[in-house]
Amino acid sequence: DHALNDADPEVHDIIRKEKDRQFKSLELIASENFTSRAVMEAVGSCLTNKYSEGLPGKRYYGGNEHIDELETLCQQRALAAFHLDGNKWGVNVQPLSGSPANFEVYTAILKPHDRIMGLDLPHGGHLSHGLMTPKRRVSGTSIYFESMPYRLDESTGLVDYDMLEKTATLFRPKLIIAGASAYPRDFDYPHMRKIADSVGAFLMMDMAHISGLVAASVVGDPFDYCDVVTTTTHKSLRGPRGGMIFFRKDPVLGVDLESAINNGFPSHSLTGLFCFLQGGPHNHTIGGLAVCLKHAQSPAFKTYQKQVISNCRALAKRLGELGYRLVSGGSDNHLVLVDLRPMGIDGARVEKILDLASITLNKNSVPGDKSALVPGGIRIGSPAMTTRGFKQSEFMATAELIHEGVQISLEAKSLASGPKLQDFLKFVASPEFPLQDKLSELKKRVE
Ligand code: PLP
Repeated sequence: DHALNDADPEVHDIIRKEKDRQFKSLELIASENFTSRAVMEAVGSCLTNKYSEGLPGKRYYGGNEHIDELETLCQQRALAAFHLDGNKWGVNVQPLSGSPANFEVYTAILKPHDRIMGLDLPHGGHLSHGLMTPKRRVSGTSIYFESMPYRLDESTGLVDYDMLEKTATLFRPKLIIAGASAYPRDFDYPHMRKIADSVGAFLMMDMAHISGLVAASVVGDPFDYCDVVTTTTHKSLRGPRGGMIFFRKDPVLGVDLESAINNGFPSHSLTGLFCFLQGGPHNHTIGGLAVCLKHAQSPAFKTYQKQVISNCRALAKRLGELGYRLVSGGSDNHLVLVDLRPMGIDGARVEKILDLASITLNKNSVPGDKSALVPGGIRIGSPAMTTRGFKQSEFMATAELIHEGVQISLEAKSLASGPKLQDFLKFVASPEFPLQDKLSELKKRVE
């Protein structure tokens, strides 16, 4: 058996280059993080070799005594990390990632074409919460379920709960989804619970982005109000790439959530395996997740999550001082959403220039945007660079580096041959790009 660099130098070299990129750049994508060496060791272990369809003690394959021990330990740690009473809450740690976890909940507790309401994608929601445009149903969720998004109040950048309530009263959803991919504020869970109760809907929170913050109790706790909570495990939680589903053990709206989520909802004739959406669990991921969830109970993890929030506030403050408009005026969590439109530039051009200067973040729509391909904003997150040891002063310096990138983007936009994004991208990529020296100088300082 050969080491990777002997067995496959080509892949080994790509991994080396990607590692180099990750370590040299300012990693500011709000959904990314650097997991620990211990987690990676578990993920890269023999656990990947084993089939274990079913649940601990009830498997469709033999040889699972150690996998049973691992999955049970992972479940116990998941409940402990989120301060949950095992008599009231259960968890499934097998979802392969965040989108499958969400879809597994929908197929478990809803019937095909039941109605759901999640935050609209252009307003910060996630595709898996259902996306429709006037012309087509964009996400799988809106093909298999009827989705009516709720939105932000564009004047405040906050969820428009009044609009949610009015729409829910007319639309009568079976499921309301809290949670987002680009929302810098906490959700008002008590208010959403009230709305869900008034129309007889389940309330689910997708805490993918903020699960690390929830575990450390530095943001509001969705478990106090929701029936089901889903999450990815690789964002602020700092685990391996995966997902989890937490569910209340007492029946909700007449549904035994535990049995529906773990075994499939009997009225859909889906019995046995985990909602039929996936077969064998990824045991290497469950191993990595168990390691992550042990760490998530430590004082060091709480300190880290507090720093994530302090860093984000420092970044928001410095961006504000530099004249940037932040959606909702600031942040309660790990991300800020910058509306670049008042600066005369968009997120796509700025993302491109910053990428060339080794600053990695993503373009993002902001309320009022017309185009998803050339949206008006950028999303900036603090978890990854906090893991790398950044404190407030480094995040203030980061705001200044981003500002320099925005200035270069503005200058490049004014010099490009035409108004289209393609003209800009071609201009930036050309060997005669006149701002190359400025860009290289910025990149050097970043690295
Ligand atoms: N839910 C939310 C809120 C997300 O932001 C994301 C991904 O960014 C997901 C779900 C999907 O997770 P995955 O990419 O693991 O499918």
